[in-house]
Amino acid sequence: MTQRRADQLAREGFNAIPRYSSGADVEIDLSDNTNAWGTPPAARSVLRAAAGTGAARYPDLYGESLKRTVADRAGISPACVVTGNGSDDVLDCAIRAFAAPGDTIAHPDPTFVMLPVFSRINNIRPVPVPLTADYAMDADALLATGARIIYLCSPNNPTGTATPADVIRKVIAHAPGLVIVDEAYAEFAGVPGLLSEAPSLERVLVCRTFSKAYGLAGLRVGYGTATPAIIETIERSRGPYKLNIFAERAAVAAMTDDAGWVVERAAEAVANRVRLSDALSAMGLSALPSATNFLLVPTPKTVVLAARLRANGIGIRAFQNLPGLGDAMRITAGPWPVMERVLSVIADGLEGS
Ligand SMILES: *Cc1c(COP(=O)(O)O)cnc(C)c1O
Repeated sequence: MTQRRADQLAREGFNAIPRYSSGADVEIDLSDNTNAWGTPPAARSVLRAAAGTGAARYPDLYGESLKRTVADRAGISPACVVTGNGSDDVLDCAIRAFAAPGDTIAHPDPTFVMLPVFSRINNIRPVPVPLTADYAMDADALLATGARIIYLCSPNNPTGTATPADVIRKVIAHAPGLVIVDEAYAEFAGVPGLLSEAPSLERVLVCRTFSKAYGLAGLRVGYGTATPAIIETIERSRGPYKLNIFAERAAVAAMTDDAGWVVERAAEAVANRVRLSDALSAMGLSALPSATNFLLVPTPKTVVLAARLRANGIGIRAFQNLPGLGDAMRITAGPWPVMERVLSVIADGLEGS
C-alpha cells in the first residue's frame, strides 16, 4: 500500500476552507458585536466563586441547569432546549445532523460569515441567496432552492436589518426540510422572535447566544429551541460535555440574576446606535436600518476609515465587496464616550480625504 503524501492527508478539498481571522488586538474592539459594557455582575461573581471549586469533574452531559433556565424563561419544556459551545456549535451540530454530505443549505447573502464555513466543514454545499432591495430575506428565492436546510438570520448580521415575521413564517410553512432561525441579536430587536414558539412550529430550530447581549463571549455559550425530536437529533450530533462547568453556571446567573442588567445595557446599546447613526448621517454616511447593537455603514471610504480608527486604537469590521452593498464598516454600539471617539476619528478622516 502506498502512503499518501504528507501534504495530502486532509480530506479532498478541505484545506480550501478558510481559517477564521479577526482584527482584534486593539484598545477598543468594536469589531465583533460583543457587549461593550462587559460581563454582567452576577455572572462575574459566580465565576469568581466557581474558580475556587476546581474543575476535576466533568460538567453536566447536556447542560441541564441551563436548559431548565432557558425553558422557564421561554415558557417551554427543557426537552425543547439544546445548549452548545457557543451558538456556533449548535449551528454546526444541526447542519450535519439535518443534511447529508452533498446536500445543500440555502442562506441569505450577505449573512453570518461562519454559516457557509460550517456548511463546507460538514461537506454540505452553501447556496447564497441575495437579500431583497430592503435588505430582508427573500422567502420565495430561498424556497426555490429546494435546499435541505434553509438558514435565516433575523436581525441579520452583518446588515443589522430585520426580516418581517410574515416572511419568516412563509419560509417555515413551505420549507422542504429544517429551517434554522438565527436570533443572535434578538435581545436588541424589540420584538419577541420565535424562541418560545419554535417547539410548536415543528420544523424550526431557533438559535440564540450568550456572546452578544449577555456579555459572555469568552465562555462560549449558545442555545436553541425546537421540538423535543429535533433537540434529540441535534444532541446526538453534539455529544456530551460541550458546556464547561464555569460557562454553564455563569450563563444561568446571567439569565436570572443579571436579567435587569442585560435589558438595561441592551437598551443603552440601542439608544447609542440610534445616536451614532444620526451623527454619521449628518456627516453624509447613511447606515442601514438596524435592529441590533451594531450599524452597517456602506461607504467606499471603508478601508481608509478603518485604518484610521485602528491607528487611534479602535477596531471595527471592514467588509469589502459585500453583495449589493460594496465596501461597508460594521461598528458595534458601545458607551457614548466611545462612540464620540469613533465619530471624531471618522470626521477627521472624511475631512482629510
Ligand atoms: C455572533 C453570532 C453568532 C455566534 O455566536 P456564538 O454563540 O458566540 O457562537 C451566531 N450567529 C450570528 C448571526 C452572530 O452574529
